[in-house]
Amino acid sequence: MAKKTTAKKPAGKKPAAKKPAAKASAKGPKYVYTWGAGKADGNGSMKNLLGGKGANLAEMTRINLPVPPGFTITTEVCTYYYDNKRTYPASLQAQMEAGVVNMEKIMGTKFGATNGMPLLLAVRSGARDSMPGMMDTILNLGLNDQSVLALVEATKNERFAWDCYRRFIQMFGDVVMGVQKREGEDHDPFEHTIHTFKHEKYHGDVEDSKLTAADQQELVKRFKALVKDRTGKAFPNNPWDQLRGAAGAVFGSWMNDRAKVYRAKYNIPSEWGTAVNVQAMVFGNTGDTSGSGVAFTRNPANGVNEFYGEFLINAQGEDVVAGVRTPEPVLKLKDAMPKSYAELLKVRATLEKHFKDVQDIEFTVQEGKLFMLQTRNGKRTAAAALKFSIDMVKEKLISWETAVMRNPADQLEQLLAPIFDLNEVKKATVIATGLPAGPGAATGKVYFNADRAVQAAEKGEKVLLVRVETSPEDLRGMIAAEGILTARGGVSSHAALVARQMGKVCVCGAASLEINYDKKTVTVAGKSYGEGDYLSIDGTIGAVYAGQIATAPSEIIAGLLNGDKASQATEKFKSYVQLMKWCAQATKLSVRTNADTPEQTRQAIAFGAVGIGLTRTEHMFFEGDRIDAMREMILAGNLADREAALAKLLPYQRDDFFGIFKALKGFPATIRFLDPPLHEFLPNSKEAQLDLAKKLGVAVEKIEHRVHELHEFNPMLGFRGCRLGIKFPEITRMQARAVLEAAADATKAGFKAKPEIMIPLVGFKKELDLQVEIVHEVAAAVQKEKKTKINYSVGTMIEIPRGALTADEIAHTAEFFSFGTNDLTQTTLGMSRDDSGSFLGAYQESEIMKKNPFASIDQTGVGQLMQIAIEKGRQTRPDIKLGICGEHGGDPDSVKFCHKLGLSYVSCSPYRVPVARLAAAQAAIADSKK
Ligand code: PEP
Ligand code: MG
Repeated sequence: MAKKTTAKKPAGKKPAAKKPAAKASAKGPKYVYTWGAGKADGNGSMKNLLGGKGANLAEMTRINLPVPPGFTITTEVCTYYYDNKRTYPASLQAQMEAGVVNMEKIMGTKFGATNGMPLLLAVRSGARDSMPGMMDTILNLGLNDQSVLALVEATKNERFAWDCYRRFIQMFGDVVMGVQKREGEDHDPFEHTIHTFKHEKYHGDVEDSKLTAADQQELVKRFKALVKDRTGKAFPNNPWDQLRGAAGAVFGSWMNDRAKVYRAKYNIPSEWGTAVNVQAMVFGNTGDTSGSGVAFTRNPANGVNEFYGEFLINAQGEDVVAGVRTPEPVLKLKDAMPKSYAELLKVRATLEKHFKDVQDIEFTVQEGKLFMLQTRNGKRTAAAALKFSIDMVKEKLISWETAVMRNPADQLEQLLAPIFDLNEVKKATVIATGLPAGPGAATGKVYFNADRAVQAAEKGEKVLLVRVETSPEDLRGMIAAEGILTARGGVSSHAALVARQMGKVCVCGAASLEINYDKKTVTVAGKSYGEGDYLSIDGTIGAVYAGQIATAPSEIIAGLLNGDKASQATEKFKSYVQLMKWCAQATKLSVRTNADTPEQTRQAIAFGAVGIGLTRTEHMFFEGDRIDAMREMILAGNLADREAALAKLLPYQRDDFFGIFKALKGFPATIRFLDPPLHEFLPNSKEAQLDLAKKLGVAVEKIEHRVHELHEFNPMLGFRGCRLGIKFPEITRMQARAVLEAAADATKAGFKAKPEIMIPLVGFKKELDLQVEIVHEVAAAVQKEKKTKINYSVGTMIEIPRGALTADEIAHTAEFFSFGTNDLTQTTLGMSRDDSGSFLGAYQESEIMKKNPFASIDQTGVGQLMQIAIEKGRQTRPDIKLGICGEHGGDPDSVKFCHKLGLSYVSCSPYRVPVARLAAAQAAIADSKK
């Protein structure tokens, strides 16, 4: 039964680079953009066309950083590919050939060469926004049985050449030819082949680096046989077949399940498509003077201005992120390769100065020479985003407005998330430590598999997902979990990247954990924990604790709400306060709160709310014995009995309102009159009905009868809202008296109460007229009795379509409108706000709607009704006050939409006030830049 009473992005930088020559030529549109040797067709501002990776490779080339040459096949080709039954535009091949020739010229090598050094290619995806681990990459492309010999000859490094070929067959076989783990298989077939070979030859699991050139050659043979066996096709020898196949696989991966789940989570439209980047390979695996690494120009977990990342000697980039070997911290590169390290530090400074933001980079050192393979704005935790933004203003790298834009509003709640209670932590046992990959504290029951984690979370359990390492297949489990714990993987592992982005608490690479998936246990320090046992993790310091640990409020909450001096002295607290000051400076839209108690009001004011946008008065009827008086009122058979029961409720309501006015310190309060259907206040079970009958001294049959009488098939569309006050005007009279007497008393006591009485669910002007008449009558009486003037107004909610469409009529009576977008959404979409969960997931996956419309306003549908109501309302009453009090008032995108509509305030729950303030300020700044 429906219950009524229970109640993206950082701003893109604009590089200074010149506009490219992206024109269509006689040969057709330009699909391929090349870069190399200081020149590039594209630049950093062309992310829509070239994807993030391609645009930034072009930009890095333009500012003369050492980038191996390459080309980007545009996202338009991806769109073409899906619009034309997975085929390519006719002119693409010729443009790709020109791109390869450009690389050959710069590198002095030849694609598919059987003589001299062959040009090998890396093929990578690159969407507009990075999608870590979601898309597939192929390295060392261009090798075949002949060119591998040329590579041996040219490098005089037989082991390296065969290692490259072996890796290529493995990646290409998996990604392009689909040789993957089958249902029921435990291991990847290529890994299984390596494992079998090592056991045959070395009788154990030796490290890959111990494999000789002959071993790699043998593996190449076995891999090819595996591909033939699994696919019935020979491994392609022709480099151009390889290149076309790889590009097709990247485009194809745009629609794989992992990519779809990721897009749904981050609202990335499928129309964007991905670009394909084809780049000349440089090699980090030629020996001990080579290596690969990934790094952030500042620490993305806590925001500290330190070079942060990791590298592996004698390895290709994939090895660093795959978690197979544990990498070294990037600072150690100083000892291992001092020249390259010094060069890398210079690049770090250049990149930050140029992009004016923290960068996440990939690099390779080939025989002492540094190459940059990627740069992008680094994903960061909310704490890091806050520190970066404040520091960069101090460093005069960015303006305060940019700093506001750099803090994603939907991440701000992370800063308010609880931390472990210090006293409890002292008593807890640290059983393991790992890398602090996602800050915050999480306690939960451990689950070792994503599906079981999701099921447990759906049952309401708090879950910790514990994995050896995570992969994109674990995404659903990661979304469902409170926290993520892995035994392997560094700060750039999949678990760390995804957790950081989702704002999940995460500890990764806790190497002492022995996880046994078959037994469903994790063993550490001699003790085993099974599924359903509690563990706790602190992702700020990287600690794992046995059992459950109570959490405590974050420094910001403790500082703001509890006035805790130590918390107020922290850098995080001060930075937050500074950010909110800037928000106040920028914002046009004010933020109110939905609060039903003085305590909630006090919290919201501390967060910066400037009034109440919605008090749901029915919530006040549930506490203590008020519910009995309420039930008495509902059971009353005549007016006199109803009025007697209402008289009992009046003092309670008046006291509540007085408390709220006091907590508001002169800010206005929109108070909504009774809204839910009456049956929600009556008990349903026989037992509770018997109890109530005894308490009220009435026959239980009377209660049963009334419950039966009030039963509705569609209570949300039934006897609720102003319909209650129309049928029982005495309810409205009591509520008006309670509000206005409290306002008079509060004003006399010096609190300057400003009640705004709000009538719910109005669709006809006459409904509002009848209710407003009662309010004015009561107001006149109370003002006379109390000998005080009360500063009050009366308005309505716009929450059913007829109300929106006839807003011009309604505005004759209403002094303000507040959009009740919860009801407006359910009545406009014809979808129950209580029951639509069963199909909304499928709707989002099918992209019928991008977001849950009850969380984020359906701007085209519901938003249009809001617009109509605003226009019509203003026709009648040009200065009508407009706000929103549905759940959407705390959703950053909806707040931005409300700014666009020109509302004067949004109202949301107290803990979302900071988020709404940030989103409102961002909307105003974005507007001023237009
Ligand atoms: C609404 O409908 O948006 C609203 C705020 O009222 P309620 O959620 O109480 O129906
Ligand atoms: Mg409503």
